Amino acid sequence: MFRKVLIANRGEIALRIQRACADMGLKTVAVHSEIDSNAMHVRLADESVCIGPARSKDSYLNIQSVLSAAEITNVDAIHPGVGFLSENERFAEMVETHGFTFIGPTAEHIRVMGDKITAKEMMISVGIPVVPGSKGAVNDMEELRSLCKEMGFPVLIKAAGGGGGKGMRVARSLEDLEAAWRDARNEAQACFGNNEVYVEKYLERPRHIEVQIIADHHGNVVHLGERDCSVQRRHQKIWEEAPCSALSAKEREALGELVATAIKKIGYRGVGTIEFLYEDGKFYFIEMNTRLQVEHPITECVTGIDLVREQIRVASGLPLSFSQKDVEFKGHAIECRINAEHPETFMPSPGKITEYLAPGGYGVRVESALYAGYSVPPTYDSLVGKLVVTAQTREECIARLRRALQEYVISGIETTLPLHRLLVENKEIQKGDFDIHWLEREFLKNT
Ligand code: ADP
Repeated sequence: MFRKVLIANRGEIALRIQRACADMGLKTVAVHSEIDSNAMHVRLADESVCIGPARSKDSYLNIQSVLSAAEITNVDAIHPGVGFLSENERFAEMVETHGFTFIGPTAEHIRVMGDKITAKEMMISVGIPVVPGSKGAVNDMEELRSLCKEMGFPVLIKAAGGGGGKGMRVARSLEDLEAAWRDARNEAQACFGNNEVYVEKYLERPRHIEVQIIADHHGNVVHLGERDCSVQRRHQKIWEEAPCSALSAKEREALGELVATAIKKIGYRGVGTIEFLYEDGKFYFIEMNTRLQVEHPITECVTGIDLVREQIRVASGLPLSFSQKDVEFKGHAIECRINAEHPETFMPSPGKITEYLAPGGYGVRVESALYAGYSVPPTYDSLVGKLVVTAQTREECIARLRRALQEYVISGIETTLPLHRLLVENKEIQKGDFDIHWLEREFLKNT
């Protein structure tokens, strides 16, 4: 097992990893930008190193600086967290060539899954169903036109290198196609430096259902059930649940087994999430994330398994401490993402926190690096907290969530807490009756 781990991240996820390390008796090193010197992840680490100016490019994304920090603090391993360098194959490779362990999969798996076209090809090769669409990239308008005529509209043009809901455009008819293609390619070039796009059938009412897996270096792969992340705005998750209330026990088992078998064939190791769209009883793979997910706590709540701890254990070469038959699903969990944004306009709202009071009590967990007096910088992702609630049934979970949302006080900045207080009262949410377009189509339509 490692002795000391550097966490190449910030905010709530850096804290989550630090806490897991501390629970395991491991020392931690925080890295931070100049603007983050008062951040909670710096305060709670055993050691910290400033790695550059506020801009991510100059600090959290600066591979040389992160590796230098690892050298001078003499760590054994680097945990990339979520976002930043977590899906950067070059970083994963450089970490290893510098003699540290990368707490994540191999650089090769990151590369294959990081390109959605090669990821789809790999999934097809191991028997996973995918959304119907082009075989590979579409490089010219003529090819796209004839493909879409054959497939039928609507279609979705997607960036091969996409992430964060960027580089995607819907075309509802032949007339829309050229503009959608141009816009998707331009956005893909601007965001990912790669304008390669592919096309898929656009599903009108699917749910987003994803399966959590964990694999060790000894060929053991276990799935930890699914999460329903259908409540989204601009393809970004806002509210997540485990389990998905639309799946039967039979469907759950079949999906989990299918995924675990496929992941074993690929020879993947570490934690990973395989994302699907689910419509009319059918699953269609969309992408695999080769890292911890923001919404991992709800899986922890319903399985009782500390995913970060297990992730660190398998990265150190230890076998998984449980097998598939040990995994039992109990109760229901919901996570609300709290963003520093106006709850109606979604404009970013950085600034000083004047009052901070987190909810508590049985079944309530808060993942946040906020505290009173802290200033949320304008520079980074707007996620500032996650409220995670668990109970024996979905109904009880919603009631507890309502109570926890009432207790939660964050003053000085705008947050999406008021949006969640409205969601929890909504009839469709209460019934579990939604799809990925529901929030924008029905709930936010007037905003
Ligand atoms: P990203 O990596 O940018 O998050 P994904 O491929 O994971 O991109 O898709 C993000 C979201 O976009 C999905 O959760 C879903 O809401 C929507 N989406 C993706 N593919 C399709 C599709 N074929 N039809 C309808 N919606 C889709």
